[in-house]
Amino acid sequence: MQRRAKIVATIGPSSADRDTLRSLLDAGVDVCRLNLSHGSRDDHRSLFERIREVSEEDGRFVAVLMDLMGPRYRLGEVREGRSLEVDEVVSLGIGDGVDLQVTDRQIVEALEPGHRILIDNGLVEARVVSRRAGKVRAKITFGGPVSTRKGLNLPDSDLPFEISRKDREDIKLAVELGADYLAASYVGEARDVNAIRRVVRQAGGTVPIVAKIERRRAIDHLEEIIESADAVMVARGDLGVEVETSEVPILQKRMIDVSWRLGRPVIVATQMLESMMEHPRPTRAEASDVANAVFDGADAVMLSGETAAGNYPVEVVQTMDRIVREAERHVHQAIHRGPGGVGSTTSASAAHRLSEGLFDLEPPARPGMLEIPETITWAAVVSARRLGAKFIVVLTKGGYTARMLACRRPSTPVIALTQSARAGRALQLVWGLRPLHMQGDVYHHDEVVGLVDRHLLAAGLVEPGDEIAILMGDPIQGRPPTNLLRLHRVVDSRADSGNAGEAPQGKAS
Ligand code: PGA
Ligand code: MN
Repeated sequence: MQRRAKIVATIGPSSADRDTLRSLLDAGVDVCRLNLSHGSRDDHRSLFERIREVSEEDGRFVAVLMDLMGPRYRLGEVREGRSLEVDEVVSLGIGDGVDLQVTDRQIVEALEPGHRILIDNGLVEARVVSRRAGKVRAKITFGGPVSTRKGLNLPDSDLPFEISRKDREDIKLAVELGADYLAASYVGEARDVNAIRRVVRQAGGTVPIVAKIERRRAIDHLEEIIESADAVMVARGDLGVEVETSEVPILQKRMIDVSWRLGRPVIVATQMLESMMEHPRPTRAEASDVANAVFDGADAVMLSGETAAGNYPVEVVQTMDRIVREAERHVHQAIHRGPGGVGSTTSASAAHRLSEGLFDLEPPARPGMLEIPETITWAAVVSARRLGAKFIVVLTKGGYTARMLACRRPSTPVIALTQSARAGRALQLVWGLRPLHMQGDVYHHDEVVGLVDRHLLAAGLVEPGDEIAILMGDPIQGRPPTNLLRLHRVVDSRADSGNAGEAPQGKAS
C-alpha cells in the first residue's frame, strides 16, 4: 500500500552529498527542509540546486522547504566557564557593565517583573525582579552553565515580531530559487505571517508559507495564524520550552484539528526519532510518537537533526517510513473490518481522524470554500470506495481540489495529475496525494480521460480494465473549478494508430 502521511527531512552535513540525498529520496523523503539558521547563503543555494538536480534526474517530485531563522534572541559574549547558581541575582542588558549581555535592546524593554527568561532551551531559567535604566535584574530559578550566543525564550514578554535583515535576504533567495515552501519561525499572530508574505511579494514571488507554531502567543492566536498561512508546523522544540512540556501532546492534537478544519496541511516536527542521531534503532517511545502523529491525522512527520547531523540519515528515514506504513495499515484495517478487529485497539482519535465515514457525514466548513468542488470531492470519495476503484485521479492546476480531497482522508489512493511541476512539488506535503506530471493539451473531457489512461498506464499504476474515478473541471478551456466526476474503466489506446499522442515521460514518485 502507498504511504499516505508524508516525510519531511532536514538536509545538513550528514545528508548533503549527492549519494546520500539520492538514498534519502529512495527511502521515501517527500519534502527536503533547509534550515536557514545554519550555514551561509551560498551553501543553501548550492544545496538547493543539488536537491533539484537529484530529484529531477530520477523524475520525481520533491518539494524544498526553506526554514527562516526568525527573530531569535540570544545572549551576547559570556566568559568561559560561567555558571549561574539558583537564587543568584544577575543583571541583563546591552553593552558592558552587566552580568549577562543580550543581543537586542527590545529584550530589555519587553521584560517586566515576574517574566521568565529561558536560556539554552530552558536549561537555565531566571525570573525578572526589576527593570531600571536599561537594565534588568533577574533571579535564577534553575541554575546551570551558560555560554556565548545561547538562545533566549521569553514566553511571558510581548516582543514585537520583526523581520531581520538576514530573514529578508533569505526570503529573497527563496523567491529567486523558487522554493516550494517558506517556513516562518516564531510568528505570534496572523499579521506576522502577512508581514512575511508582503516581503515575499516585494521580492516578486509567491512562495507558500508554513507557519511554525512555537510560541505561547501563537497558541493564543491559533485560528487566525493557521487561516493566514498555507500550511502549519507543530514546532515542538521551541514550543516545549515556551509552554509546559506536559501541554505539548494536547496542543499537537489541537493544532492538527484546527489545521484540518481550515484545510491546511500540517507537519509534526522535532525529536521524532532523536535517539537515532546516535543509534541505529529508535526507542519504543519514539516509534509510538511517530505512529501517534499519524493517528492524530498529521499530513507529514519531520526529521531535523536525525537526517541533518545524525549518524544514520538513511536508516532513520527507512525507520520512519516503516512506522508510518504500519500505523496506516492498522487504521485501514480498523475502518474496513470494524470493531472487534484491530478497530477495538486503535485509538478513538485514529478512527476519527482517518475514517472517511465520519468525514463523509461532516464535510468541514472552511472560509473561502468553493461549494461545487467541496461537494464533488465528497461524491468522488464515496463513489470510489463503493466501486472499489483503484485510484481517484484529480486534475489540478493550483492544487485546491486535490487538497480538499485529501482533507477527506479517502481510503482510495489519490493521484494528482498536473501540468505544473510547481504544483506537483507543493502537493508532496499533503496527506495521501501522489503527484504525477501530465503532458499534452486537451480541449474536451473525453480527451482528458484518454490522457489520464495513457499517463497511468505509462507509469505502471493501472492495467486495462481497472476502475478509476476522475475529477476535473469542464469545459476544460474555460478553466472552471472542479465540477465533473467521471467513473471510468481504463482503456489501453496506445496500440491504436490514431490520437494516442506522444507517450508521457516521468515515473510516479
Ligand atoms: P527549529 O524549529 O528546528 O527551526 O527550531 C522547529 C521547532 O522548534 O520544533
Ligand atoms: Mn523552532
